[in-house]
Amino acid sequence: MAQNVEKIKDHAELFQQPEYQELFKSKKESFEGMPASDEVARVAEWTKTWEYREKNFAREALTVNPAKACQPLGAILAAVGFESTLPFVHGSQGCVAYFRTHFTRHFKEPFNAVSSSMTEDAAVFGGLKNMIDGLANAYALYKPKMIAVCTTCMAEVIGDDLGAFITNSKKAGSIPEDFPVPYAHTPSFVGSHITGYDNMMKGILTNLTEGKKKETTNSTINFIPGFETYMGNLRELKRLTSLLGVNATILADNEEYLDSPNTGEYEMYHGGTPLDVAAESINAEQTIALQAYSTAKTREYIATEWGQKTSVIRPWGIKGTDQFLMALSEATGNPIPRELEVERGRVVDAMTDTQAWLHGKRAALYGDPDLVLGLLQFLLEMGVEPVHVLVTNSNPTFEEEAKALLAASPYGRSATVWGGKDLWHMRSLLFTEPVDFLIGNSYAKYLWRDTGTPLVRIGYPIFDRHHLHRYSTIGYSGALNLLNWIANTVLDELDRNTIVPAKTDISYDLIR
Ligand code: SF4
Repeated sequence: MAQNVEKIKDHAELFQQPEYQELFKSKKESFEGMPASDEVARVAEWTKTWEYREKNFAREALTVNPAKACQPLGAILAAVGFESTLPFVHGSQGCVAYFRTHFTRHFKEPFNAVSSSMTEDAAVFGGLKNMIDGLANAYALYKPKMIAVCTTCMAEVIGDDLGAFITNSKKAGSIPEDFPVPYAHTPSFVGSHITGYDNMMKGILTNLTEGKKKETTNSTINFIPGFETYMGNLRELKRLTSLLGVNATILADNEEYLDSPNTGEYEMYHGGTPLDVAAESINAEQTIALQAYSTAKTREYIATEWGQKTSVIRPWGIKGTDQFLMALSEATGNPIPRELEVERGRVVDAMTDTQAWLHGKRAALYGDPDLVLGLLQFLLEMGVEPVHVLVTNSNPTFEEEAKALLAASPYGRSATVWGGKDLWHMRSLLFTEPVDFLIGNSYAKYLWRDTGTPLVRIGYPIFDRHHLHRYSTIGYSGALNLLNWIANTVLDELDRNTIVPAKTDISYDLIR
């Protein structure tokens, strides 16, 4: 039967149609065997109590909705920041389909990554043959300048050795001997996407800079953004370094790849740090990382193997941005331009305008360690009181750093840092100790729906709102974006709560 394209319904509307409603009803009656609805309601209420919270926090053998992804996802994000680089995941292709979909849903861009498609036979005999064929096909079909290899759980469980496999593939003639194939083992049963990012960055830098060390430095500064999903942040980093006259090398620059222009021409590889420029990073004056916990091994490698000074500066909020610009000014000898001073003044003015609406507000937040620390820097500057600070992929160093940051501010006293906890824990926290707003990624939508806590979407992934990743969260411009997103969420909620004329809306207040 011919379909009318004008009548194709979105699923939200489609499933309201009588035939679907009927189908759901009969499925429920025939198969689901649900307890009576008053029993479901009773248990649902009980899960909101302190008693349930205690049981929830005593759980050890189960994780529910962890706020993290697995290592190879971070590894391939690092890889696409380099010129014409194809990420190659040694393992099962279902994993790679998940990574590609995840990135495509967040960035609204195609994301290229191939896999060696290991199946049962490779699980028994090892994946060498898959690697030999896979590298040959990837090289011939997609014509990359570099292939960056990482692993899924399957390859790690059987113990495939990437270094040996790549050497054997080259010997077998899959790819030329001198073709760069950096690699990183990325077992997903340890760490998270930020560990995978770190491992792959270290692997790529190790490969590209081998034998490139010179006697003198080249007057450049390396910047490692870390597991960065705000493309506006990469643009902001380039703008700030350019205004300060810094000869910057970004390791690695995936901005154009993940926010590529629609020119009408298809290009498989957009932008990226040129491979020869990345190879020269070994001779830079110093390396500044904008995240600590997604760059720990890379920085250690740079410090020990390259003998280069490394530091971490998070340019979040006013203080963090000041610190970043002063470090650049000191490194280059160039003054901070007036343009940035004016920009700073404008943002401080905006923060002052809004301060009354955010001061003393109680907040919950979760995300990667560096994201959470950056957000805390900004929230404390606004006088917001963080209450629940939850990081699934936490570690003791992060927890110490977060506690010290909170302790240094009078607004940090109500906060508890919940390391290693998940979003089901966050649900209990929000029910038992409510807050004024929650900051999290798209998965927090379920917490918003469940607990009614107003949600500010900041983090990764953000699937259910468009274009946020194109904005910045760092620099003065980033502080203004954070202010805008947070303050206007609070004001939206206020409007929602004062919607009934002459009842909840007494003062008919148009002006906030
Ligand atoms: S956790 Fe392991 S099996 Fe699951 S998607 Fe990641 S690599 Fe694949």
